[in-house]
Amino acid sequence: MHKFDVIVVGGGPAGTACAIRCAKMGFRTMLLEKSTSYRKKFCGGVTPTVTRNLIEFELGLRIPQSVLSVPESLGLFYVPPSGKCNGGTMKNYKLLNLRRVDFDEWLREEVKTHNVDLLYRAEFLELKLGKDNLLKVNVNGSLEVFEATYVVGADGAISKVRSCLFPNYRSKILTVVQEVWEGEGDFKDNFYIILNSKIVPTYGYVIPKDGKILVGFGFESGRINLQLCMTKLLSLLKDEFSFKPVEMSAREIAPVPFAISPIGLENVVLVGDACGLCNPFSGEGIRFAIESGVAAAESIKISQEENAKLTSVYESKIDGLRDFLLRMYAFVNELDDEKREDFVRKELSRLNVFGI
Ligand SMILES: Cc1cc2nc3c(=O)[nH]c(=O)nc-3n(C[C@H](O)[C@H](O)[C@H](O)COP(=O)(O)OP(=O)(O)OC[C@H]3O[C@@H](n4cnc5c(N)ncnc54)[C@H](O)[C@@H]3O)c2cc1C
Repeated sequence: MHKFDVIVVGGGPAGTACAIRCAKMGFRTMLLEKSTSYRKKFCGGVTPTVTRNLIEFELGLRIPQSVLSVPESLGLFYVPPSGKCNGGTMKNYKLLNLRRVDFDEWLREEVKTHNVDLLYRAEFLELKLGKDNLLKVNVNGSLEVFEATYVVGADGAISKVRSCLFPNYRSKILTVVQEVWEGEGDFKDNFYIILNSKIVPTYGYVIPKDGKILVGFGFESGRINLQLCMTKLLSLLKDEFSFKPVEMSAREIAPVPFAISPIGLENVVLVGDACGLCNPFSGEGIRFAIESGVAAAESIKISQEENAKLTSVYESKIDGLRDFLLRMYAFVNELDDEKREDFVRKELSRLNVFGI
């Protein structure tokens, strides 16, 4: 039996941020990650520059140059339904262009230097709630039991911790397909968001990254012809950006949450994608994962010190974040192309933004 104050399940941005913060506060912390140290995470890796501040001020870390792509900084360019000529770049707004696999690996390395026990090939299987929570884990092929006062579910969009807590909860998922292209086009150093329901059902995007072009879009499963949408998106890029695709080196498909889930139960809380904290308008989730991971760690501390109910403390800590995302969900549910056009026109007239 292995005993810890906190066990965090999942070593993505949410789990690593939470584990580092817990260890800094003196908790004996274990991080369980089902994959190996090199985990291929499908992601655009684009995140607002506030993520850098979040990591610096909340975790005391500096993002190393080695995890940034070329170009390392991107503008945000909206293409509305009426086309690129009515779109443009947001003023005074910049995004970081992360190499996501390296970014996650760097965070997990940092976890180790913060006195967190990190186990790879450790797949969480079952949870028995109690004063001391019991976790059944498959560690490298053998079944082991871990014990922790607090558990944090940071195990992504299809969270097993969440299904143990709420077996009847049916999560909503958006699937994101992303192709990595070699080719040339009239793309500047921008993250392009393409908003046009005749091309893609939700959002489309283009990211210049390390000499390649990432092209992707999100869709609700079963409702579209994926290949047809990608063909339409590529043909828009040919028309509007003189894109000449040469060769596709990868096609990546993975889920993002498309609804905010319950936040936890007793001494167990959910963070990041496991809690549905992802922007439905753009698929952005890295920043919210880190923010909620830190919030969970702080909530554990407060709950312990003040003998307060963990889920209530955590709820109040992520209230602003959840509220923002709930407004985004309401906005997305009402969207049509007229509203998309209006949204882009208004956004481009602003001088500064926090970003969506
Ligand atoms: C194609 C695509 C493109 C995206 N592009 C962007 C983007 O450009 N910018 C952005 O901000 N967001 C983007 N996102 C969303 C972003 O990737 C997620 O919001 C973010 O990764 C959430 O972080 P997380 O730590 O909550 O979950 P994850 O990063 O999914 O990490 C979960 C971890 O838990 C581990 N795990 C899962 N189950 C278990 C288990 N049973 N036991 C142990 N470990 C387990 C997994 O191996 C993984 O390491 C994109 C998503 C997709 C799919």
